[in-house]
Amino acid sequence: MGASSKPVVEFDNTAIAFAWKDDSQLKNSYKLFKLINNKALVEFGTKMTAWAISAGIPFVETAVKHTIFEQFCGGEDIKGCQAVIELLADYGVHIILDYGVEARQHEIEFEQTAQYLVHQVVRKAVDDPNVNIISSKLSSLIRFELMEKVSAGVELTEEENAEYLRGVRRVKFLCKNAFDNDISIYFDAEESWIQPCIDEVVTKMQAFYNRLSPIVFNTIQLYRKDQIPHLKAGFEKARKEGYIYAVKLVRGAYMEKERDRAEEMSYESPIQPNKEACDADYNEALAFCVDHIDEIAFCNATHNEESCRLLIELLDAKDIKRNHHHCWTGQLYGMSDHLSFNMAKAGFNVAKYLPFGPVKEVIPYLIRRANENTAVSGQMSRELGLISEELERREGFTKK
Ligand SMILES: Cc1cc2nc3c(=O)[nH]c(=O)nc-3n(C[C@H](O)[C@H](O)[C@H](O)COP(=O)(O)OP(=O)(O)OC[C@H]3O[C@@H](n4cnc5c(N)ncnc54)[C@H](O)[C@@H]3O)c2cc1C
Repeated sequence: MGASSKPVVEFDNTAIAFAWKDDSQLKNSYKLFKLINNKALVEFGTKMTAWAISAGIPFVETAVKHTIFEQFCGGEDIKGCQAVIELLADYGVHIILDYGVEARQHEIEFEQTAQYLVHQVVRKAVDDPNVNIISSKLSSLIRFELMEKVSAGVELTEEENAEYLRGVRRVKFLCKNAFDNDISIYFDAEESWIQPCIDEVVTKMQAFYNRLSPIVFNTIQLYRKDQIPHLKAGFEKARKEGYIYAVKLVRGAYMEKERDRAEEMSYESPIQPNKEACDADYNEALAFCVDHIDEIAFCNATHNEESCRLLIELLDAKDIKRNHHHCWTGQLYGMSDHLSFNMAKAGFNVAKYLPFGPVKEVIPYLIRRANENTAVSGQMSRELGLISEELERREGFTKK
């Protein structure tokens, strides 16, 4: 089929974007985004909420559950996600199931997470055709401080080395299960001071399990200055060693934290000098992946309309199938439905990252989402703008 006969994707079609939400759900989303549009309120609210929940103040947890949690998470457990999974399936949007626990500390917790991922999350993906990808953070399987030492090249004590090997074994246990069941697993990128360790472990897993199909995905953060050579080197290594390179492309979620640490510890910030440089590298990475689509599997994980537009142009210009099995687009659940639902309708492989877990365990994730959706310089945030547009459209429709 020629490029011209492919349906045009209209990202401003809010009717398609929000068809899966009824009026009352949409109004609730509007109220929530209106609240988090206020930067000062978010700064105060996130500090207070984290404190109140850790102090066990019960009504705060309930309030979080029925507001921000409901917007950005699927449920407190896998069963709780079922309604969302089925609803999104009706619109051709797939699920990347993400067990959202973070910042674990003790070996027993890492072990429990690994068992849960294998016996519950991978299992769910096997049983449910709409869940074909799962995701995990390495810091939920290996202790953060240990990964920091490994990343810095610090020599481990015998005890630490044994602990590290147990951590790597947990990652392998998970990847092997994903491989045995033909389920893809996305490993998130995290802070730059543990990322060398993540890259090393995930690359080892890729070399092992990506021989026939892309099972293990690493993540590349293009808000870092050094990631284009890193992407290309990863690809060359995979090509030379005969396995499929698989990456999720993101801009990156820890920009302030990265800059603050670099300043505090007086080293050069790894972050791009400005947003334009970050966007340019993101686009370059995307083009590189499309150019090598037969050998690279990738996910365009973004809420940026231009990046999605670019992907569409690149694929269509080369007359590559929009649902090529090596190419996915992903957004976070609760965000950028105008991209997800319009692209899914136009035939692209689209999946929503669906985090789940007990409310108090997913607080760090919810804080990142609140911060990401506050207004910059007094403007309406992107989500709020889209939702109000759709509410106005529906109101106009009922008035006619
Ligand atoms: C499916 C999915 C998976 C994800 N997985 C990860 C992950 O594993 N690890 C992770 O870190 N993030 C992850 N993210 C989060 C992602 O990094 C943020 O949602 C993303 O940064 C927001 O950017 P955007 O691509 O949506 O585009 P935009 O909204 O256009 O860009 C905003 C981003 O640009 C960058 N930026 C902004 N200003 C500047 C500046 N002055 N200089 C340099 N850079 C700047 C920042 O990264 C900022 O977040 C994931 C997102 C999705 C959708």
